[in-house]
Amino acid sequence: MISVRHRASQLLRTSLLGSSQKMALSSSAQLSSDQDGSAMPQAQHFPALKTPMLPPDTFKGKVAFVSGGGTGLGKSMTTMLSQLGASVCIMSRRQKVLDDTAAEVSALTGNRVLPVSADVRDPAAVTAAVDACADQLGLPDILINNAAGNFISPTERLSANAWRTIVDIVLNGTAFLTMDVGKRWIAAGRGGVMLNITTTYTRTGSGFVAPSCSAKAGVEALTQTLAAEWGRYGIRINCIAPGPIETEGAFSRLDPSGQFRKVGMKAIPAGRFGEPEELTNLATFLVSDYSNWISGESVAIDGGGLPFRGGEFNQLVRVTPEQWDMMEQMIRATNKKSKL
Ligand code: NAP
Repeated sequence: MISVRHRASQLLRTSLLGSSQKMALSSSAQLSSDQDGSAMPQAQHFPALKTPMLPPDTFKGKVAFVSGGGTGLGKSMTTMLSQLGASVCIMSRRQKVLDDTAAEVSALTGNRVLPVSADVRDPAAVTAAVDACADQLGLPDILINNAAGNFISPTERLSANAWRTIVDIVLNGTAFLTMDVGKRWIAAGRGGVMLNITTTYTRTGSGFVAPSCSAKAGVEALTQTLAAEWGRYGIRINCIAPGPIETEGAFSRLDPSGQFRKVGMKAIPAGRFGEPEELTNLATFLVSDYSNWISGESVAIDGGGLPFRGGEFNQLVRVTPEQWDMMEQMIRATNKKSKL
């Protein structure tokens, strides 16, 4: 029995414990060659469907306002909303980026995309941007708070200014836009639907992204608060909490060395990262009338990453059948002994 236990622990050390040590040391080029960041075999069972799932013209006659709509996931949501008939106002700081996206999406869909430059941290600029949308497209029916800032850093290295910048964009920016549009809907005696893009780590906390985690958790609390408070005005509000979806903006600041991609893939049961269109199909559903009975909810879209990272024994997916045979023998032997 001792030899079985010895052999089992040897095997476990070389595969299971070896892997977790490698994970911890991921930045020091100690990764094994199989951790190359490409999708895992099970991903073949979960192909990403990228075409709009909602019927054509779902948003015909509707106006959507998307903060951060010029790049990444915001651009993807803008594209699908526009494909489905909406006029879309996109707002962020860089006018040229917005202009290019607006031209590209309009050319693709034939629908209007209005680019308006503003900083979400500035309430007056936010009001002016919503005014521009109201004047040129109409008051929004749909508001998507997608603009964000984030970067990885040990918390003890953060300055007060770095903290304030992220919280200002993510929490205060979302609040300014939400209050501005919400007040207009209430004053006009009409409803509307809001969607906030948060993140999975609001549910667990996460080291090295403390300002983003705190601010996004605040956005989720605001979502539940307003779902309760503003339902009486015909306003619905929800969140999507995405896991990793490769965009230039997010990955350049959250995975500058490319190492997270290699390690992070292993923590996703679906075996791959998400695709922008998968989030976008969920987003269009949540801002459509098909989800009229959903409010105050936060929907994670992460290939099962949240439960995988949360479960104490989930690293045992790395245990081989041979190792399981040995451990089973050890457990049976222990059970037998305890019955003597
Ligand atoms: P992204 O392309 O960098 O999108 C961020 C957008 O926010 C940019 O268009 C940026 O445009 C805008 N923005 C930043 N600061 C702003 C400000 N002060 N005022 C107005 N706009 C501002 O990254 P992404 O991956 O698409 O992220 C979109 C959303 O998904 C974010 O809320 C992010 O937290 C969330 N998310 C992404 C992932 C992921 O893996 N990609 C995972 C979880 C959550 P300007 O720089 O021109 O202002």
